[in-house]
Amino acid sequence: MTQVIRKFSSKESRKPRILILGGGFAGSNVLREAQNRLGNNAEITLVSQDNFFLFTPMLPEISSGMLHPSDISTPIRTFCKTANFCHAKVLSIDLEERKVTVVRIFDQKETVLEYDYIVLAMGSRDNFFGNANIEEFAFTIKTLEDAIAIRNHAISVLECADQEKDKILQEQLLRFVIVGGGFAGVEIATEINHFLHDAAKNFYKNIDPSKIRVIIVSARNGILPEVGQELGNFALDYVRKSGIEVITNTKAVDAGEDHVLLSDNTIIPCATLIWAGGVTVDPLIASLKCEHGASGRVVVDKYLKLEEYPNIFALGDCAHLVDHHNGAVYPTTAQIAIRQAKVVAKNLAAEINGQDNTMEAFDYKNKGVMATIGKCVGVALINGRKVYGFQAWFLWRLFYWLNLPTNEKKIKVAFDWLLHLIFRADIMTVGFIKKKTLTRLETPIYSVLERTQEESSSENLSYL
Ligand SMILES: Cc1cc2nc3c(=O)[nH]c(=O)nc-3n(C[C@H](O)[C@H](O)[C@H](O)COP(=O)(O)OP(=O)(O)OC[C@H]3O[C@@H](n4cnc5c(N)ncnc54)[C@H](O)[C@@H]3O)c2cc1C
Repeated sequence: MTQVIRKFSSKESRKPRILILGGGFAGSNVLREAQNRLGNNAEITLVSQDNFFLFTPMLPEISSGMLHPSDISTPIRTFCKTANFCHAKVLSIDLEERKVTVVRIFDQKETVLEYDYIVLAMGSRDNFFGNANIEEFAFTIKTLEDAIAIRNHAISVLECADQEKDKILQEQLLRFVIVGGGFAGVEIATEINHFLHDAAKNFYKNIDPSKIRVIIVSARNGILPEVGQELGNFALDYVRKSGIEVITNTKAVDAGEDHVLLSDNTIIPCATLIWAGGVTVDPLIASLKCEHGASGRVVVDKYLKLEEYPNIFALGDCAHLVDHHNGAVYPTTAQIAIRQAKVVAKNLAAEINGQDNTMEAFDYKNKGVMATIGKCVGVALINGRKVYGFQAWFLWRLFYWLNLPTNEKKIKVAFDWLLHLIFRADIMTVGFIKKKTLTRLETPIYSVLERTQEESSSENLSYL
């Protein structure tokens, strides 16, 4: 691998230029910390295709209408004291020439940005494991647009089911399949389940709430493997008791606009598939000419720098670093991204100030994991201590509420949570974000089975 080491010299007349690519947990926090440490001594620019920082742990609550989009998204410019913000999509990164080509979001105009230091913080994207049909027909839960699209779709489905006289078609409409038994899958399933039942009970006279079926498909033996066996079992029992069906040890292998095909040859006729089955890195990150981990994340050393390019830092979901406490790669979580951001900002400042010997190694022992699994119920594993039920749910809310980036957002979220306790579900759709429709609604349900059988030439198909 070519070694390009041209350190920025303090004798140079201009300020060092730092480019931060990505404005999520990793990028926004590097920006905030780096400004504090470097002040006016560096020219910092953050490039992001979204002009806001998104607080993803609360994203499922946008789909259920519990929170509003502006509650959990903060304009990146509010973090910029001395730094610049560039609302653009990164097209290519030339590590040798130290150039990044970006395209402006509004008019697609291309610009080349030069840098002395670069921070890779572009996060991850959904991994469909090469299945084009699933990618085409599934909703995802990664961006604000995704969450709003799920909400609009769920409400449209209720509206349609309320008018549908054919009971079989109505049942098909009211079946929601969520693939993925991790945090994102379980949290979106529980939010949607609660919202659908609440809305049907209060507003849709022609829908029997007991006909609403929310189904989680998990490739593992249970759900939430991150919280361990005991809490995972508790979560599985609880979500099942709350009416969500969980199919374990099974994968979704194909999908159409009106069905999902599982690895055991079961077909689930449905109008909604939500994919939370895993993440991978952006192809741009995967194609960088540097060392990559198994999932395409760029390998960094303990200072969160690329070994081949000491002027390049990487962190968050797009960085690969082995946790020496347990030998596993650090997971893709906001907690890790936030802590890595502090270390990157410190090391950037050390590097620019010529104090390499003050660089800090990233050494973080995960203190806990938490998830909500229903209304006022959660599970948490904190410093090895298992917490269940209301206490875990309260801890989840408190922890994430305290981590919201501004006081304005804290007040908005607290207020919306309070309003939700008092008022009924809001069933208004925002009409301009519409991603998927079901065009073959007239198709009798058994033809889904026949069609898939023909396509897969398998004789053992059954349907749920
Ligand atoms: C629904 C959901 C729930 C979650 N819940 C939790 C939780 O409870 N706890 C937890 O710890 N973690 C949770 N996570 C995981 C957490 O969101 C991620 O680990 C975290 O966001 C990683 O931070 P990041 O900055 O690396 O990436 P991101 O936060 O994804 O930020 C990536 C940034 O890069 C920008 N970007 C990407 N590509 C380009 C491009 N080509 N050009 C310009 N900009 C680009 C994006 O717009 C974004 O600003 C959840 C994730 C989801 C989706």
